[in-house]
Amino acid sequence: MTDYSRPPSQIRAFDCFIDGAWQKAQSGETVTRYSPAHARAVSEVQRCGTADVERAVQAARRAFDHRRWSARSGAERAEILLKAAALIRERRDEIAYYETLENGKAMAQARGEVEGAANIYEYAAGAARALHGDSFNNLGDKMLGLVTREPIGVVGLITPWNFPFFILAERVPFILAAGCTIVCKPSEFTSATSLMMAEILAEAGLPDGVFNVVTGEGSTVGQAILDHPQVDMVSFTGSTAVGRRCVSAAAGNFKKLGLELGGKNPHIVFASADLEAAADGVAFAMAFNSGQCCVSGSRLLVERSVAATFEAMVAAKLARIRVGDPLDLDTQVGAITTHAQNQQILAAIEAGQAEGARLVCGGKPLQIGQGAFVEPTLFADVAAGSALLRDEIFGPVLAVQPFDDFEEAVAIANDTVYGLAASIWSKDIDTAVQMGRRVQAGRVWVNCTLAGGPELPIGGFKQSGWGRETGIYGVEEYTQIKSMHIEFGARVPWVG
Ligand code: NDP
Repeated sequence: MTDYSRPPSQIRAFDCFIDGAWQKAQSGETVTRYSPAHARAVSEVQRCGTADVERAVQAARRAFDHRRWSARSGAERAEILLKAAALIRERRDEIAYYETLENGKAMAQARGEVEGAANIYEYAAGAARALHGDSFNNLGDKMLGLVTREPIGVVGLITPWNFPFFILAERVPFILAAGCTIVCKPSEFTSATSLMMAEILAEAGLPDGVFNVVTGEGSTVGQAILDHPQVDMVSFTGSTAVGRRCVSAAAGNFKKLGLELGGKNPHIVFASADLEAAADGVAFAMAFNSGQCCVSGSRLLVERSVAATFEAMVAAKLARIRVGDPLDLDTQVGAITTHAQNQQILAAIEAGQAEGARLVCGGKPLQIGQGAFVEPTLFADVAAGSALLRDEIFGPVLAVQPFDDFEEAVAIANDTVYGLAASIWSKDIDTAVQMGRRVQAGRVWVNCTLAGGPELPIGGFKQSGWGRETGIYGVEEYTQIKSMHIEFGARVPWVG
């Protein structure tokens, strides 16, 4: 029986999963992952290369072209997705443990994410059955028009390290519901739970070759998927820099792209808000997952008349967040996931101080065991144009910007290349809803933040991405539309 309250005494080793079988990488090499909270080796995955990607793409291609999955009815697809959901629930603690070990996130949170993932598979099972086309009965008695939704084919799925299992769940069941096959490449830092998902889907009865997982470095494995001419679509979640590479690579075979990239998401707090609730929401949305969320609230726009009061309320909340060993179930915020990310966060804090922004609270690394932890950090009096207001820091760092009226709040909120999410806090319904209509973001929260669920679609405006995941939109994204004219009776000859 595993003791989930401490790191494991042995490394867990995984092979990659290709064509329904566990396989070694051709290189014979592996990648070892150290827990960012404990600096201990916890897992080992195959270091795949282009030859392994080739095997995985060919497996997914065969599975698709032989209609091993797409020929199944929505009801049959749903049955497998529901079995997978049940197996996820059964293995919740084990999956959450490896998610925590590899990512550094609080285990209580990871357990919630695993349950949330099961819930998404259940929703997508319904979507597999609900997916449908359209018909045109208005073309006259001799002609009927049909519009069908066809699976797009082989999907390359490249996922990041911040929510390895949850982001996978926001995509895999929808791709499967649509009838596509998958070559998945998780981040080299957090591959274990994607490999567990392969195990679960196989046990649930998914045919061989429909879900394949290749592990290793993004610059080789991810790039080989992007460049592959037999991959019909790529769904990528991660940095804007790699998003650009996806766009260049798509030119090869014009593969379709789904992109979920960065964000610099505003909270817009009006004097008419319930300030206590808003302060709690602001603290949550910046510190959750150590601020390593594409939808983290990282800019705080607050109406000037309450700015000083509100700043103090948020600082008091931030100081009380329980940052600590993520395996402790009382911990709210765990470690920073990668060394590079830790350096990026600390550099952003240092640069903010150097340019004269006022540090209201936080700002330092925390010494907790051997891990990388950062205090939730709040800056005020930030110079216009500062990187603190412009760049995605992807850490628990928040910058305050006061505003005087509604139009100024709109202008500041939309003054970013990104458009992923925005949270609006006001009990005045006109103010709250009108701001929701004006803000340029794919996800808007009113008097709440980071709310989710598989029913609503997610995705970004502007440079935050293309396409939508989850909801019925999320299944449709992985289909292409075919229109069919069907003529009845005798043809009117063209050649007399
Ligand atoms: P990346 O964009 O590098 O990583 C995301 C995924 O892309 C990973 O699976 C990665 O693999 C893979 N990848 C890396 N290079 C390539 C490539 N050339 N071709 C195809 N796939 C590739 O993010 P980082 O880990 O470097 O994080 C940097 C910044 O990106 C963060 O600070 C944050 O701002 C942003 N980010 C945004 C996320 C979001 O949810 N929108 C998630 C993660 C990061 P591997 O990890 O194995 O290299």
